[in-house]
Amino acid sequence: MTLQVQGYKFFVDGKWTDGASSETFELRNPATGEVFARVPRGTKDDANEATEVARKTFVSPNWRDMEQTKRGKILLQLGTVIRQNFEELAKLETLNQGKPIREAKADVAWTIRAFEYWGGLADKIEGETIPVTSNRLTYTLREPLGVTAHIIPWNYPLALAARSLAPALATGNTIVAKPAELTPLTLLKIVEYAQKAGLPNGVLNVITGSGSVVGRALVSNSDVDGIMFTGSTETGQQIMETAAKNVTPVLLELGGKNPNIVFPDANFEKAVQMAKYAIFTNAGQMCWAGSRLFLHEEIFDKFLVELKKGTELLQVGPGLDEKTEMGPLVSRDQQERILNYIKSGQEDGARLVTGGAIPEDPTLKNGYFVKPTIFTDVKSSMKIGCEEIFGPVLTVFKFSSVEQVIEMANDTQFGLYAGVWTNNLRLAQQIVNRLEAGVVAVNDYLVAYPQTPFGGYKDSGIGYENGLQAIGHYTRIKSVTVNTS
Ligand code: NDP
Repeated sequence: MTLQVQGYKFFVDGKWTDGASSETFELRNPATGEVFARVPRGTKDDANEATEVARKTFVSPNWRDMEQTKRGKILLQLGTVIRQNFEELAKLETLNQGKPIREAKADVAWTIRAFEYWGGLADKIEGETIPVTSNRLTYTLREPLGVTAHIIPWNYPLALAARSLAPALATGNTIVAKPAELTPLTLLKIVEYAQKAGLPNGVLNVITGSGSVVGRALVSNSDVDGIMFTGSTETGQQIMETAAKNVTPVLLELGGKNPNIVFPDANFEKAVQMAKYAIFTNAGQMCWAGSRLFLHEEIFDKFLVELKKGTELLQVGPGLDEKTEMGPLVSRDQQERILNYIKSGQEDGARLVTGGAIPEDPTLKNGYFVKPTIFTDVKSSMKIGCEEIFGPVLTVFKFSSVEQVIEMANDTQFGLYAGVWTNNLRLAQQIVNRLEAGVVAVNDYLVAYPQTPFGGYKDSGIGYENGLQAIGHYTRIKSVTVNTS
């Protein structure tokens, strides 16, 4: 069956448009390789025009003077509209990005929570009074930054868009967002729902197109007051360099090579189950993937046998099939990239435990699938041991002491997320204190709520998304002193 190719537009100042060039690009279903949509290829002029619109809207009375409570209500209403379109949005995410429908539904649920969390917070963002002298009243105002540019990646197109759009709107900014070229569709839906929820025209503008054109134009525009980026460390570094020219603040959530550490006293079955979940969810395309598994020598062999067994039972297939447990990679390029990492692991002398190839099933041959893969005998000097693979490839290491595992876990340029498995609370806390990671889960993995700060140490980023700490990245402080004498 051939899919009907659907045409999309992007959204500026409350209007759907083809943009300045009328050129388009195609989207392919990652499960089949078929073209199913065509989207406008935005230009530098489109990005600049959208920024101008966002600037005008920022200072217009219908946004600047809107009561915080009303802004919050719009976000709460947006949550309601998304809930009414739950299934449609989840299906679109899976069709475009490839992830299993169960995961896409979890992303939609997370998106609703994010808009509702920030909707509730909108009228609780406060300044402070500061004691100085008896004849002076000093206080701070928390003001929005102005126009914020949001560069969204392709691994969680919907949830990561919501993670930064919701706080930006709650704090009173106006937005130009650029989804990844590969996965723009669910963000375009959010725009449609936001209009239904009552968001004024010009507040949320979305331009589709490439990072090298639209993304670059946004981050170099001196009218942009804040840049919110999630993606690779290399692109984050380039963005920071460009932003420095205009002294524009950046919030960067970048790559990871995250340790997941299991001690012998941990709940064995749960740890095995979650080690799989930590790497094969979203086909491993996650900054917070548990891509380096550290097993204590006492349990190493038994754990690996069980892990291999469980991994080989994983149902790999199209995301829209309810039975699928792991879907395709997002694109042919990513599939090739992962297969190259696997090849390099084999060439460097790592031992392939399972996977390492595309699936044999002929019905999957046109999609971008790679079997869930496990390597042992990995060294941190190997490419697969130190680089962010961003695919379904787990590297497993053996350790014998606490000191050794801390050293191994921290032996990476990244510091985003980590997991620790033990029933010994004192040991858990000792490890937590010494791990160089911004987020740590104990006896758990892949847990993040809109209210829990999320951000990286080292090359994994700057700043925190989620939670009250994020308010600081979406606002600036005005310090006011009134002489009362
Ligand atoms: P990028 O970091 O290049 O892409 C992320 C976003 O940035 C996309 O929207 C992209 O646009 C945009 N972008 C790219 N270049 C620029 C630029 N110069 N200025 C502004 N925006 C830009 O990741 P890739 O898609 O190239 O993926 C490569 C690798 O990055 C992955 O394999 C993975 O290792 C890592 N990655 C990490 C993510 C994370 O969550 N930490 C998310 C995505 C990737 P467009 O795609 O349209 O060109």
